Amino acid sequence: MKYFRKSTALLLSVVLLVSALGIGFRASAGNRCSCAEIPRVMVDGIGVALHYDQGGPDEYDVSVVAPENLKEQVLPIVTNIIAAAATRSWDKGADAISALAYGLFGHLQVDEYGVSVNPVTNFAKPVNTQQNHQTNPKYEFSYDWRMDPMESAALLNQYIQEVKSATGHSQVNLIAFSEGSMVCMGYFAQFQYDDIAQYISIMGAHNGLTLVGELFNKHIDLNGTIAAEYMRAYGRFAGDDGAFALFKPLADVLEGVGLVDALVGALNLLLKNVQDKVFADTLIPLFVQWPALWGFVPHEYYESAKQTLLSGPKYDDFRALIDNFHYKAGPGYKADTLLANAAKKTKVSIVASYGFPTQPFAPNSLIDADGLIDTARESCGATTAGLFKTFPQGYTQKVADEHNHVSPDLRVDASTCLLPEQTWFLKNQIHFTFGFAPFLDFLVSSKNQPTVWADPAYPQFLTHLPNNTFVPTQPEAPAKTVSLPQSFLALFDVVCQLIIAKVQEG
Ligand SMILES: [Zn+2]
Ligand SMILES: [Zn+2]
Repeated sequence: MKYFRKSTALLLSVVLLVSALGIGFRASAGNRCSCAEIPRVMVDGIGVALHYDQGGPDEYDVSVVAPENLKEQVLPIVTNIIAAAATRSWDKGADAISALAYGLFGHLQVDEYGVSVNPVTNFAKPVNTQQNHQTNPKYEFSYDWRMDPMESAALLNQYIQEVKSATGHSQVNLIAFSEGSMVCMGYFAQFQYDDIAQYISIMGAHNGLTLVGELFNKHIDLNGTIAAEYMRAYGRFAGDDGAFALFKPLADVLEGVGLVDALVGALNLLLKNVQDKVFADTLIPLFVQWPALWGFVPHEYYESAKQTLLSGPKYDDFRALIDNFHYKAGPGYKADTLLANAAKKTKVSIVASYGFPTQPFAPNSLIDADGLIDTARESCGATTAGLFKTFPQGYTQKVADEHNHVSPDLRVDASTCLLPEQTWFLKNQIHFTFGFAPFLDFLVSSKNQPTVWADPAYPQFLTHLPNNTFVPTQPEAPAKTVSLPQSFLALFDVVCQLIIAKVQEG
């Protein structure tokens, strides 16, 4: 201890001497840059290409859905699923679901220790040191989005150090999308805030998803009506790029032969009857062993989900792995604490969205969401009126401050957010596509903490228009009550009868 103090004192005097001489360690590095263009480290979500045999002679990109399997394999399997449901052959149906899922996602399987079964990965490409950050400030961090966010965060830290040294900047802007926000929570938990000039979360998964919480508690219910709502939403807003493009070939194949409704109905009927078998044979080995998916499970669903899906000594190591993220950086109070701390030390901007249900796989999919993640969770605590609903006229915000935080369309009350002055809401911005470059520029170019009051062009509530422009949100007429037919299975039975009749004819 004595020695430590002495050497600290010695070091201090050297530092004082050096700075007195006006040299400074930083200047001696020779490539310091203090320009206004702070490099941006982008941390994307699920859907970035993974690589087979990365760095090896046979390297190639693999997508989320194996597209080479679509045309040859999917159609006969889907026919089998529908036929099994129509004839109530439950075990055959479960096997057909298994064949479909393995055909599409088998290449991404992870074992019970959280290790990829195939040589598929994505380790961050090294920073391009030739990149001119003043003309191109974006540095894309890539990672294996199936894996433990704490591990990905350690790789992110290395990447940030490389960007700093390549650009001569002492800090970066950290811009996260979707799962990227989860990795950034892992980063803040382990590496704190000193290297970050501003943290921006866009439709972030830092507080989990109700959808995943429900599914991981075996609450499954496919909803054809919401599926139809999705089709409409994508028709209006989705481009050909983004993660959705990966699923489009599948949708095209099924739609082309009129099988979407029949498939949804068949899957629902089968799942109601062979849910445990489908979980044991297919969902657990294919998806539940992705450590990252456990980062999407909200706190209130977490322990029961572990009991439901990961019981027994087989999963001792895996449970320790996912607990490490969940309890140090994961959904719930930890992420909120990390973000609150971040806001004290650096600039923090949170961008959420509403206007869509979550995906139609769970009984309570009809919540305010961006098409995937709950609005309340990604905004860290907004109060919403309920999907397609409005607050009553004369509604007063739950937390009084000197501002109005109720959206002009009476659908969102931002006063309950963790950071109400620095949380934006983009109405009708679906999760999988985000291309609002001027808004990002506004956030990163702000010298001080940007707030929802800083620029009238970017108030707290913005609306995404189909031509991919954004305008301040306006009051709207109260939405009509959306009525959802509860008779989807009945409709499916009609389809089955038609198929059976067709089979008997031919
Ligand atoms: Zn610079
Ligand atoms: Zn306020």
